[in-house]
Amino acid sequence: MAALMVVYMGARLVSQCDARCYNAQHPACSCCCGGANHGVGLEEALLNTRRMARRYAEQYAQEQGWAVADVQLEQPLHETTRVALREF
Ligand SMILES: [Zn+2]
Repeated sequence: MAALMVVYMGARLVSQCDARCYNAQHPACSCCCGGANHGVGLEEALLNTRRMARRYAEQYAQEQGWAVADVQLEQPLHETTRVALREF
C-alpha cells in the first residue's frame, strides 16, 4: 500500500497519509492531511491530495512550528506526494 502523502523533516519521516487514514473507521487521527482524507476512501483521498497537498503541507508545518521547503510528486505511478519541511 502506497502512501498518498509523506512528510519529511530532514531524513526523518514525520507523518504520512495512507490507508490507515483514508480507510479509517475510527473518528480521530492526526496525520498530515489534517483529517481531510480521514475515512473518505481511496478515490476521494486521491482527489483531495492531488488538489490540496500543498495546503495540507503548509497547515501541518505550521502546527509543528516548521515551514514547507518543497512539495513534489515523488512517485507519479502511486501518486505519492513528498513534502520536505524545514526549520523557520
Ligand atoms: Zn490523512
